[in-house]
Amino acid sequence: MRFRKKSKRKISIVNYLMRWWTVFFLLFSVFLIICVNVMADYAIRNAVIKEFTRQMYRAVDCVEKNDGKIEFSGNLENVDSDFTFVILDSHGNLVDGEYPPGYDPADDDSKKMHFRVVKSGNESFYVTERTKIIRRRKRIEGDYILRGIINKKNISTVFQRIKLYSYIALLVEVVMIVIVGIVLQRRISKPMLKMCEQAVQIGEGMDLSERMVYDGRFSEMDILLKAYNQLLVRMEDMISRQNQFNADVSHELKTPITVIRAQCQLTKDQLTAGQEVMVEEMIGIIERQSDWMGRMVEQLLALSRMDQNKISFELEEMDLADVVEVVCEDEGAASDKQRFDYDLSSTPVVADVALITMAVRNLISNAVKYSDKDTRIKVGCGRGNSGAYVSVQDFGIGIAPEDCSRIFEHYYRAEQSRSSEGFGLGLTLAMKIAEKHGGTIHVKSMPGEGSTFTLVIP
Ligand code: ADP
Repeated sequence: MRFRKKSKRKISIVNYLMRWWTVFFLLFSVFLIICVNVMADYAIRNAVIKEFTRQMYRAVDCVEKNDGKIEFSGNLENVDSDFTFVILDSHGNLVDGEYPPGYDPADDDSKKMHFRVVKSGNESFYVTERTKIIRRRKRIEGDYILRGIINKKNISTVFQRIKLYSYIALLVEVVMIVIVGIVLQRRISKPMLKMCEQAVQIGEGMDLSERMVYDGRFSEMDILLKAYNQLLVRMEDMISRQNQFNADVSHELKTPITVIRAQCQLTKDQLTAGQEVMVEEMIGIIERQSDWMGRMVEQLLALSRMDQNKISFELEEMDLADVVEVVCEDEGAASDKQRFDYDLSSTPVVADVALITMAVRNLISNAVKYSDKDTRIKVGCGRGNSGAYVSVQDFGIGIAPEDCSRIFEHYYRAEQSRSSEGFGLGLTLAMKIAEKHGGTIHVKSMPGEGSTFTLVIP
């Protein structure tokens, strides 16, 4: 048992784009903030080290040893008040000075490092120290340590401001993304919805002469709209040709059917009256009318089968010259046999005889149909550069250049030929047959001078 693939849930293009856009921007912003944080931390650390070196010099200047006792002279007045300095002995016991509030020396266990961060309770401190106290180029006797401490909270530098700014920037960015998203969504989806509404209206009203309009600035929408309108033009054209075709077929069939009916009635009457000669003539008329109808139905059937790819294709060896002769003879019987000028060389090809005959018949009967009775028709066949060919040249009404590209379309008939009988299917069928054999049909024509159709089979 086959299961149908579940179709994807449909979402709005704008929503889809905005979702990815927002995710990308947020990730990118987080990345930027991490970079700013790391760089700011690094820069703050360097700035603190520099400042510590300066304050340390000032603190050393205040150290004195009097009567074997080491202490700070004065009140460290030259030292920045955010920095705290203490003197310790070699065991780490406090000799002079006071630890800043919150700092616990027990938490400071990495004493070997010159510069470090110490965490005490909830607070963090930058700590640095000197083990040799040298004042005015003279070392103060004894193993003393001068330790400098500053609470991280007391450091206000440009870099911390940068950190703050980057958080604010992220917030502004998110707000902007949301606003831009809403604006974009309105700008893009509004014309799209309008176009959809128009399409639905046209579909519901089935008025194919209506066109969709878009006066916005998005080129993709314009392309979509033009493609849709082109489709409408083609559909309108196709439907009107189909309607014309239906009218033509009914009209064309009505005449022979009426003739056949009338002839049958007459034949019966003549038979009763014993007029055999008249009967023979009437049966001839019936035969011709039914032949004509038969040919038309045959073409319609062949075309519909060809369109559905259902036609059987039986290849066999044949001579194009024979086909042309047979068709000219048939067509000549209907018109004047003497009209044809032949230039036929034996041209053996492998093709479907019935189909090729149908194609050649359409070309020759068109030449007869679209030219005056007293003009000549040149038919030829042979082998050229592109393969075997059959050419049919007439000196009739000709075809306008703008019609030349369209005469192979279903039901298409040029303006000046609409008064003659036909349905605009013969050339469509002939072209399909040529293509089925890998070939084509070329046309050269000048209005008022005549046309040359060349069927080429490679
Ligand atoms: P039909 O002849 O039944 O109308 P066709 O498909 O055979 O249909 O031809 C399509 C159209 O091409 C014709 O209606 C006519 O306008 C044009 N055409 C075809 N052959 C000729 C020709 N030999 N001379 C002038 N016009 C032609």
